[in-house]
Amino acid sequence: MKNKVIFGNWKMNGTNTDIKAFLKTVDKKAKNDKVIAGLAVPFTALETAIKKAKNIKIAAENVHWAENGAYTGEVSIPMLQELGVEYVVIGHSERREMFGETDEAVNKKALALLKAGMVPILCCGETLETYENKKTNKFVSDQIKKGFKDISAEDAKKVIIAYEPIWAIGTGKTATPEIAQDVCATIRETLGKVYNKTIAKEIAIQYGGSVKPANIKDLMKQKDIDGALVGGASLIAEDYLELINYNK
Ligand code: PEP
Repeated sequence: MKNKVIFGNWKMNGTNTDIKAFLKTVDKKAKNDKVIAGLAVPFTALETAIKKAKNIKIAAENVHWAENGAYTGEVSIPMLQELGVEYVVIGHSERREMFGETDEAVNKKALALLKAGMVPILCCGETLETYENKKTNKFVSDQIKKGFKDISAEDAKKVIIAYEPIWAIGTGKTATPEIAQDVCATIRETLGKVYNKTIAKEIAIQYGGSVKPANIKDLMKQKDIDGALVGGASLIAEDYLELINYNK
């Protein structure tokens, strides 16, 4: 069985002081042979987080695809690499919905990250309206096809996908394990068609959307769910530890 990949996402929360205190509490207890534990933090806390985390992988929450240039307010791949960042969340629904991030932009970011030897955590997921209209599987499958455009089979294996139904993010409404499994299976099927079944099996697919200590075990039992991306609950040290050590 593949190791599970469980990342927190702190969004626009956490000063350097906060992240230092958090890692002091959790890092030592984050050793787990079966789980790759990670945490996405704001740009300003990355340097501190990288220095303090020994057992936890640190991720950025966004990146620009260009190496440098006139992109006021953006952060490039070399800037993140200089800090030792390896993982980057791209296409989070909050960036798609509030900051106009498109599938094309997500694809450019994924290609640039892979070229630089970094790991994209590529988010996808549908709105409540799409879900209620029973169009989730087609919608998510299209997002995956567009996000993986021109990515080689070899590189595709390195990508982590986070399936996060928008209606379940920060709402307390978790997709049932069955719903989450069904969409994650569709994602794997799509990858199987774009690449092949062997490659599709190797790609880690996380579920995200109100994951908490109370529901993680049932979610992780699902065949096509290889981990979780966790917002709210990852801010609480005790909950974060329970999540990344759900198997103990
Ligand atoms: C997220 O931000 O990716 C997320 C899933 O948030 P929450 O766990 O709070 O729903």
